[in-house]
Amino acid sequence: MSKHQLRRLSDAGLVAEAPIASIAMKTSILALAALSLPVAAFAQVPGGGVYKYPAQQMADGAHKGDTIAWDFVEGITTEVGPRQAGTEAEKRGRDWAVNWLKEQGFKNVADEPFMMNTWVPGEVHKAEIISPFPQPLVVQPLGGTPSTGPEGITAEVVEFGSLAALNEAPEGSLKGKIAYVTHAMTPSQDGSHYGYFGGARFVGPGLASQKGAMAIVIKSIGTDQHRNPHTGVIRFPEGVTPIPAGALTLPDAANLERMFDRAEGPVTMKLTLTPEWIGETQSGNVVGEIVGKDPSLPPVLLACHIDSWWNGTGAFDDGAGCGIISAAALHVSHYGQPLRTIRVLMAGAEEVGLHGSVAYSKAHIDEPIAVAYESDFGADRIWRFESNFRETNPELHAKLAASVARFGVANSRIVATGGADINIARDQKTAIIDLQQDGTRYFDLHHTPDDTLDKIDIDQLRQNVAVWTQVTAIVANEPGSIKGE
Ligand code: ZN
Ligand code: ZN
Repeated sequence: MSKHQLRRLSDAGLVAEAPIASIAMKTSILALAALSLPVAAFAQVPGGGVYKYPAQQMADGAHKGDTIAWDFVEGITTEVGPRQAGTEAEKRGRDWAVNWLKEQGFKNVADEPFMMNTWVPGEVHKAEIISPFPQPLVVQPLGGTPSTGPEGITAEVVEFGSLAALNEAPEGSLKGKIAYVTHAMTPSQDGSHYGYFGGARFVGPGLASQKGAMAIVIKSIGTDQHRNPHTGVIRFPEGVTPIPAGALTLPDAANLERMFDRAEGPVTMKLTLTPEWIGETQSGNVVGEIVGKDPSLPPVLLACHIDSWWNGTGAFDDGAGCGIISAAALHVSHYGQPLRTIRVLMAGAEEVGLHGSVAYSKAHIDEPIAVAYESDFGADRIWRFESNFRETNPELHAKLAASVARFGVANSRIVATGGADINIARDQKTAIIDLQQDGTRYFDLHHTPDDTLDKIDIDQLRQNVAVWTQVTAIVANEPGSIKGE
């Protein structure tokens, strides 16, 4: 979405406020008193009417000019950069976030450590076609895959037009070969093709190994046409021998596919990838709080992840998300001390297998949380509101959806399941919200060297902060159960 279109949306939002204001004006003073919200909630809206929602003015202000989210993502990408899970770079990222949260006035800021088995990408990432059309292709290793050794692997490449085709290959048929798997992912607002075609990365390497392959290269799981490989994690099933696995850029994959079309004999590749497992290292989850008035009420949990892949700078994934959630918590605090504590969780080691999310849930499972939601889909505008309590707490669901309609967010019947970093909410079977972001260009950048600060559109970043502020202000000041059960 262009900045121009976003402005048109926000203009529409202002128009949409008129009926809200007139409804609010009809509300009697007694009814307002019964809500026992801070007086500031009913200050005059510029242009007439009264504010209807807690921190409505803070959300509108964030929409126009939030600087906090940008301050976080600009700061961490400039001063730290890539934050590969379990490495000293991720540690520097956590230290940076701890300092920033303290400077911003968060309380109970901590880096809660956990141990993990750590993988690093190594230095050599090369794919060369040896025959019939010798030339280099651009490749990077997939997360968690073993090394080819510095001498590389030279073998015939066998092409599969889909993951299903690889699945149908007879057992042992890839012995001594390198498998190549392609896919047909296209951009979409909800990013759903990632789920349909991501299997080439998630399970392709394991399948290729089971068929006897000595290595695999895939067409990057992405939607851009740049020479940027898209990395990402894979896991080999129990008992399956891990094999070296790399992601070719989309243009290089297209080139390889043209070679298959023209080659009269085998296509041979030399693949050299030197990632390494370096053993147990320490990672951690960074947490901080806006302390609420009533410590007996379960807190609201806002999550993002602090780690990133080594090959970008972790701006879109997920520096932006950490900036958005922190900015929202602060804007809500500027409205007045919330009823419930708002806790931010910047999870460690998400990319390589949700280690931080698992560790957080394990450490805090006995501390009930009221509701959790996560920002981890870039920095483009939020377009859809989902919860898992539309049926159990329909009034609150409707109120939340209505409160963000002015920012161009649609209500949805889809049941929210939450992001990767809020395992604890699923483990506790508590309330979950999904604030779905526009993913049209997310997979152009996802896990690539192109995940850099300049890709963030500040107007869309601010729309995210506005929506998060409004939703958080409502749930953090809600005295009753959010889930409604
Ligand atoms: Zn992410
Ligand atoms: Zn990611």
